[in-house]
Amino acid sequence: MQLIDGKKISSDILDEISLEVKVLKAAGKKVPHLAAVLVGDDGASQTYVAAKVKACERVGFESTLVRLPRSTSEKELLEKVSELNANSNIDGYIVQMPLPKHINEQKIIESISPEKDVDGFHPQSVGKMALNLPTYLPATPYGIIQLLKRYNIPTEGKHCVVIGRSNIVGSPMSVLMARNSNPGNCTVTLCHSKTINLKEHTLQADIIIIALGRPEFLTANMVKEGAVVIDVGITRVVSTQTKSGFKLLGDVKFDEVAPKCSFITPVPGGVGPMTIASLLMNTLLAVNSKN
Ligand code: NAP
Repeated sequence: MQLIDGKKISSDILDEISLEVKVLKAAGKKVPHLAAVLVGDDGASQTYVAAKVKACERVGFESTLVRLPRSTSEKELLEKVSELNANSNIDGYIVQMPLPKHINEQKIIESISPEKDVDGFHPQSVGKMALNLPTYLPATPYGIIQLLKRYNIPTEGKHCVVIGRSNIVGSPMSVLMARNSNPGNCTVTLCHSKTINLKEHTLQADIIIIALGRPEFLTANMVKEGAVVIDVGITRVVSTQTKSGFKLLGDVKFDEVAPKCSFITPVPGGVGPMTIASLLMNTLLAVNSKN
């Protein structure tokens, strides 16, 4: 069994991006500029956005954090989005989700200029991804593709079972694994809460990608010998074993599943660190596609 070290791969990618920024600077070109819009004071969102700003600093990107109060109306947020669309100094930006209930998230996503949609959530980006055209890939699936690629995990002709069909992880993941590319070229089964006898599917899988949000859902008796298991789930649970009083659990019962796997991602330290690296890769792409 080989552990897939997302922390290391993410750090390697940030180093590669730093080098590219140095090259841009040396050529007298503008450094990439990523902006993030944060509405309200949700704790997890603040942590994610702070980590994105910190990663920008590490690679030498310019970054802007736009903080708006929870009371911001949909109209005010749409105005901010148009401002960012028109600001030629900003190459790409994200609007951190979830948004307060009174704002229609889909309406906001659709108002982001597709050229600056580094989260890859705009319908144009999703459509291009499905057509295998160059575009911004959504961060978490893009990160998983990078892990498979950099560990040289063969995917062609394999049976990949994706569990979970969210717009940000499961659905795009199933599309990417089925595309005619490498990684890709899998036969894909997409499972969700209405799937009957999930175990029948997972037992046939060469690759399982699970994005549910149910701690330790995937057990050893659901996995065949030699499978590759990618665990996207992150759930914070109370723990008496840690100083902080909580720990993060994935969707996989790691201790019993890992011995059966050829490759497996841990939680934390697997898929999680890849998300920010993907966002920065997309921002660099935004700049390079203009040059
Ligand atoms: P989500 O929107 O809640 O989607 C969960 C999916 O799981 C849904 O498609 C649901 O099916 C399916 N599901 C629920 N119960 C099931 C069951 N018993 N059997 C089969 N499928 C079932 O979740 P998400 O946003 O994709 O996130 C999933 C997990 O990944 C969460 O723990 C989240 O924190 C984590 N995550 C991590 C990262 C990262 O590492 N960077 C990024 C994003 C998300 P239905 O569609 O039928 O309801």
